Amino acid sequence: MVQPGKRAGIGFGEWKKPWKKMNTEERKKAAIERVQENLNKERVVEYGSLELQSGWARWREDVLALDLSWNSLFKMGDSMVGFILRAVYGTLVTSSLAAKWDEAEDGMCKLCRTERGTLQHILSGCKVALEQGRYTWRHDKVLNQIQSQVAYHLDKRVNKPKRSVSLQSSTIGFISAGAKVKGPPKCQNRSGMGVLTEARDWVLLADVNGKLKFPSEVTTTRLRPDLIIYSTSTKRIVWWELTCPSEERISAAHELKLDRYSGLQVECQENGWSCYNMAVEVGARGVVAKSLIKAAAAIGMRGRARKKLVAVDFLALHNVTEDWELKNAAPNIVRRLQSIEKSRQRISDNCLQGKQKTNSSTAWRKSFSYH
Ligand SMILES: [Zn+2]
Repeated sequence: MVQPGKRAGIGFGEWKKPWKKMNTEERKKAAIERVQENLNKERVVEYGSLELQSGWARWREDVLALDLSWNSLFKMGDSMVGFILRAVYGTLVTSSLAAKWDEAEDGMCKLCRTERGTLQHILSGCKVALEQGRYTWRHDKVLNQIQSQVAYHLDKRVNKPKRSVSLQSSTIGFISAGAKVKGPPKCQNRSGMGVLTEARDWVLLADVNGKLKFPSEVTTTRLRPDLIIYSTSTKRIVWWELTCPSEERISAAHELKLDRYSGLQVECQENGWSCYNMAVEVGARGVVAKSLIKAAAAIGMRGRARKKLVAVDFLALHNVTEDWELKNAAPNIVRRLQSIEKSRQRISDNCLQGKQKTNSSTAWRKSFSYH
């Protein structure tokens, strides 16, 4: 037992006032907190019991929270928001899901016809979609957005900063006798540009349309990371390899890509270059992986620039996926659902007006059989 206001030992948990010593207000607050805690626990248990809807729980640690601010929702529009939420919670009407309630639906992918049309397959695992260049197109679209934000960062903040920044702190702070000693500054590195510090000759290369050529002054290789930033004066090179896997595979894809370029990293280091091998991911549903934020922080992108980097990717990706996933991959399902909704609306209108006809019951049964 630790008295209130007294210092507890290291590792001692949060002190809670005993119920007996609480006044009415405190008891009311504590009771509400307890109820909320219980409700949250129940909710987590419920998610776990829903196999389809709880898929996100397996990858939520790898990604950033969705930006569902009013500003972002208005920008996206109704259909986009609906698409994102249904994709995340696994309720998007794919052929595989429709087959659960519609006997006429075979549940196969509408493009390849050889595999189940699950969301994961449609968004990132279909061979036909890959051959048609859909995934590459999406990847390049995301890469373009990332490149433009990084280019802006290099141009405005790193290579030609408006405010002059001292590269190293040259002053020594003397402390008068009796004065309090202040802790070290939050940002030891004055320029705060992470690995891009100490140089202003950073060059950015991006592998858009397969045109990238690895800088020959560093090493000779056939490998082409998606984004390269290098400085000849400091002999430092950073590269980002971008992947757009399904959210379930973000962590695996990250390791795979780091491993793929580890040999190249050693080669660069042997040639006397400091090398930073980074893998970034933007999920196929449009949920941004934490790796992108970490990589952005490593090159000093922060504040609005970093926020913009993440937000732009998110929208660009959804514009792409929604376009073909709903309109091309499963048009018949969407049409069928729309007709069901219409008939349901008609029946409920009839019921309200007291004009329900004999055939309505058949229609009701039909509409329920789909849901
Ligand atoms: Zn397929």
